[in-house]
Amino acid sequence: MNVTPRRQFAVDDIERPLLGLNDFTRQWQDIEHDVLSAVRRVGHRGWYILGAEVRAFETHLATMWGVPYAVGVASGLDALEICLRCLGVARGQAVLTTPLSAFATALAVLRVGAKPVFVDVDATGLLDLERCKAVLRRRPDIRVLLPVHLYGHALDLGDLAALRDEFDLTVVEDCAQSIGAGSNGRATGTVGRMAATSFYPTKNLGTLGDGGAVLTAERALAERASSLRHYGQTSTYVHDHVGLNSRLDELHAAILRDAMLPRLEKWTSRRQAIAGKYRQELENPRVAVPSVPPRSRSVWHLFPVILAPEKRSALLTYLRERRIEAGLHYPRLIPDQRALREGGEFEVIGELEQARRLAGGEVSLPIHPFLTDDDVQRVIAVCNEWDG
Ligand SMILES: *Cc1c(COP(=O)(O)O)cnc(C)c1O
Repeated sequence: MNVTPRRQFAVDDIERPLLGLNDFTRQWQDIEHDVLSAVRRVGHRGWYILGAEVRAFETHLATMWGVPYAVGVASGLDALEICLRCLGVARGQAVLTTPLSAFATALAVLRVGAKPVFVDVDATGLLDLERCKAVLRRRPDIRVLLPVHLYGHALDLGDLAALRDEFDLTVVEDCAQSIGAGSNGRATGTVGRMAATSFYPTKNLGTLGDGGAVLTAERALAERASSLRHYGQTSTYVHDHVGLNSRLDELHAAILRDAMLPRLEKWTSRRQAIAGKYRQELENPRVAVPSVPPRSRSVWHLFPVILAPEKRSALLTYLRERRIEAGLHYPRLIPDQRALREGGEFEVIGELEQARRLAGGEVSLPIHPFLTDDDVQRVIAVCNEWDG
């Protein structure tokens, strides 16, 4: 019988609590008091849908973001769909976007009946704007752009605005991972006519459930979004649009305003400090730290490292044995998802070489704001010791 011990990690590793990609237990310890008082306030008021809490949160979010209007909706996916519908993006229209994102990005395009057109990303994982320019030059049929500020990095917003102006593009920015991020002295979400964000629990500004918001500088678009989230109503029992039921709850709005928004800056700084440590101290050549867009003020929603594809699963196993959870963002490109074949028309431009490299080799290390300094040092030490 072969009794050679297969695994060689120390016993104390087995007994360690898992160092996860998120830590909602530690988060609860931080926010409990404020969440409970928010819930009590909503309960005392006895008003649960579209009231003073949603309005107050929208005002706070818009002020914090530096945009005139924010409209609370039920999810990031809905926020994207509502943006596209507000701007009249409809059946058959082509929308240039990234193959490397949460599936929701492309799903929103499919849901309005439009056609996602996938263009490759650059080495940082974000839509390659130079490539987009080349495509837009020869394809006058594509005039809608849906970029994603992936991993919490901001696309170069000067370049994005220049592209918008050169081709007269309708831009909707997916800011689900980029709340607080910016470049060229401006915030993500301010180049497009509209932007969408998500309050999914793992996002930098997450709630205890689902939620999202639409952002815009245009009053008419904010009004259209408010109508679309509420059955297309423009006033009680008057339906001027074919809308959705996609409201942010009063409870989530109260929790976001009382417990989450006031902590966002502190949480973001912590993510940035951890990213700084990782970038400084990860020195294993097998675990490459990718470059960041040069002008991005990143909020580090994720911390990606890049492996040789054939080594990736070995690193994941090694980390799991040492009680460190890692993630993959994203292992299968959107145009390779089976759902697209039944979802309507789509188009892929080129070989998507960079996106495939990242899909095959990316690993996300834990970077949530509740990691202690010891946790961070442990992740660094464990990664640096890996000789797989
Ligand atoms: C999370 C996410 C979404 C979808 O948000 P939900 O609130 O989960 O619907 C869309 N785009 C990106 C880039 C995301 O990370």
